[in-house]
Amino acid sequence: MSIEPQAETSQDTTLVAADSGAHWLARYQKSLLNVFGAPQRVLVRGQGALVWDADGKEYLDLLGGIAVNALGHAHPFVTSVIASQMATLGHVSNFFTSPSQIALAEKLLSVVKAPEGSAAFFANSGAEANEAAFKLARSYGNTQGKPTILALEGAFHGRTMGALALTAKKAYRAPFEPMPAGVEHLPFGDLGALEAALATGTVAALVLEPIQGEVGVRPLPPGYLKAARQLTRQAGALLIVDEVQTGIGRTGDWLAYPGVYGPDFMPAELPDALTFAKGLGSGFPIGALVTIGPAATSLLSAGQHGTTFGGNPVATAAALATLHTIDTTGLLAAVTERGEALRAGLRAVEGVTEVRGAGLLIGFDLDAPCAPELVQAALDAGFIINAPAPGTIRLAPPLILTEAQARQFLDALPGLIHTAKTPIQHRDSETA
Ligand SMILES: *Cc1c(COP(=O)(O)O)cnc(C)c1O
Repeated sequence: MSIEPQAETSQDTTLVAADSGAHWLARYQKSLLNVFGAPQRVLVRGQGALVWDADGKEYLDLLGGIAVNALGHAHPFVTSVIASQMATLGHVSNFFTSPSQIALAEKLLSVVKAPEGSAAFFANSGAEANEAAFKLARSYGNTQGKPTILALEGAFHGRTMGALALTAKKAYRAPFEPMPAGVEHLPFGDLGALEAALATGTVAALVLEPIQGEVGVRPLPPGYLKAARQLTRQAGALLIVDEVQTGIGRTGDWLAYPGVYGPDFMPAELPDALTFAKGLGSGFPIGALVTIGPAATSLLSAGQHGTTFGGNPVATAAALATLHTIDTTGLLAAVTERGEALRAGLRAVEGVTEVRGAGLLIGFDLDAPCAPELVQAALDAGFIINAPAPGTIRLAPPLILTEAQARQFLDALPGLIHTAKTPIQHRDSETA
């Protein structure tokens, strides 16, 4: 007699009973480490660019899980690919490989236009991708007698110790010193400072973001990246570009690098290494380091780095499904168009003083330090946005955001800014 698997497959998979938002938050406070502060809402469901909270309220998600939900929530193709991969083969360890891991490496190298001899390493997050990049830089520096790794002021590269050493913000670093040694932060966009640092002959690598996301979407100044590529090459230092937030369609291109480099970008001017994560798996955790060309690729050899989960069949299948969908639905062009329209619309809103970004990675400044109040007012009105600084808002919506959804936010924004600037004690009397 055989045991029928039917009983199991037809089982109800609801493991958590429903509760109200307020109850969930009280339970959160008693059970989760308080490193994030109080969560804004308890979210239970998503569809496209919309999410719903535990009390049934609907939101237009203009942050996309911080530039992660590239194809929105519950994308049918990504969902089915993940489910079918898990039902076929979910994890194998890196003693083995799988077709989806190899196919993703090939696809990633092809969209990056990486030359022959390039290679991918898969991790589980942005910080982990940057840890691999840090080890690449350190290993190169140790063979060359170059102990210094340069990063930029305003940089965000993650919260693990190596990535944190590259991250500039003092409040993130100070409690955890000493940092891994050798990292120096240069003034943002200052080519003279870069030249002077490279002239010491001690620099193994320069690590930077083409557009700094966490400080409020700040692109490198025109010409900086091109000059940095030439100067690092002349000095025998690696150029490592963190595309964790900007890569994989976010800016309307597979990479932000060419657009920030300038109109005369050629594939030969690619950096020595690139890192990816956020949008790569459409919400399934995955990170990647791509080494460009045989020299960079030979810097880490067998046994020098590793990960248990990294590159597993499910994560790589999720990323393959993401890249395939971006490719086959004309999404890059749509992101460029939608982003331009959104930025033009934002520039016309009273109270908005500056609008920055590329594609659907957008930062805008307000004429008052009311960004946290604006986030709150937007949330109450059913819009999820983010305030990386007191006077700055960041948007990183799903790449599938429709024109009507973008318009909905632009139409609401003047009223939301007004509410954000109104002291709370006056708000009730206004609506009464
Ligand atoms: C988010 C981010 C990271 C860190 O990624 P995690 O997945 O949070 O570890 C690194 N670099 C940049 C540019 C980022 O935006």
